[in-house]
Amino acid sequence: MDKDIESILLSEEDIQNRIKELGQILTEEYAGKNPVIIGVMKGVVIFFSDMIKQIKVPCQMDFMWISSYAGTTSTGNMVVRSDISADIEGRHVLILEDIYDTGNSLTFVREHLLKKNPASLKICTLLDKPSRRKHGITLQADYVGFEVPNAFVVGYGLDYNEYYRNLPYIGILKPEVYTD
Ligand code: 5GP
Ligand code: MG
Repeated sequence: MDKDIESILLSEEDIQNRIKELGQILTEEYAGKNPVIIGVMKGVVIFFSDMIKQIKVPCQMDFMWISSYAGTTSTGNMVVRSDISADIEGRHVLILEDIYDTGNSLTFVREHLLKKNPASLKICTLLDKPSRRKHGITLQADYVGFEVPNAFVVGYGLDYNEYYRNLPYIGILKPEVYTD
């Protein structure tokens, strides 16, 4: 285990097993639909590459990059730093996200993509922190890997000041690691 990690919340095996289960569900859901699977950078990249291999239908992939999340607090001010390149009009779209926290990011991404008139738009998030949902946000993810408690987690793509994304598991940092 990494020296900065206090405890492991989800092991590599937990994550991979759940991804296989989700893969079976999504393979059935998207059979014959040739979906465009969109990842929200950067936190999703590790989950994205494992998840997409378990969705066994012809599909395309694309990415968008939004900000702003600095340190451990979300500001709610979102901008598109890099948009998708695919034309999704009339297409079945699946958004993959690392974590659904306050809901600001996914609400923003969803509205942005809906303006492009997809045939359908669903959301699959690896982690869901329902206790953190901002007042007024009622959007639910269609597919959830794991519900997690209200703690700041790192690993498997999730960062703290851009570090720890490469850990194969999801864990909680030791309190002394935080600098803000
Ligand atoms: P939301 O807009 O739902 O508040 O936040 C979504 C984004 O905030 C995620 O995509 C992720 O980048 C970041 N985030 C939220 N909670 C956590 C967390 O516990 N750990 C890390 N590393 N990032 C988080
Ligand atoms: Mg993210």
